[in-house]
Amino acid sequence: MAQLDVSTKSKMELVDITAQVQKVVRESGVRSGVCYIFVPHTTAGLVINENWDPSVGQDIVSQLDKLVPRTGHYRHLEGNAPAHIKSSLVGASHFVPVEEGKLVLGTWQGVFLAEFDGPRHRHVVVKVIPD
Ligand code: ZN
Repeated sequence: MAQLDVSTKSKMELVDITAQVQKVVRESGVRSGVCYIFVPHTTAGLVINENWDPSVGQDIVSQLDKLVPRTGHYRHLEGNAPAHIKSSLVGASHFVPVEEGKLVLGTWQGVFLAEFDGPRHRHVVVKVIPD
């Protein structure tokens, strides 16, 4: 198991971690299997989507912000209820196939840590499981 350290810079943002995850896969020596990626946080999540045009990630973040407004009638007294809800909506983990020692992603796909209550120091757990 490997752990990535990711420092986020904004309240909400998608941070592209594809290269770091790919490095873990390469260094694992696994040629064929699956890569499990898990974000152990309640106000962040994991997103796989387009990493070529950064405006896609900006749209995802801004539309999630409209879907779950920052202010509202929330019971959670810590003040970050919207971040917990956004984290639940996008989820905390993904499996990606591994072939020839590399992540099998679509041409435009990347792996992102989704920050919803930053800026913070975050961890991402990566486990590469052979066939
Ligand atoms: Zn909270």
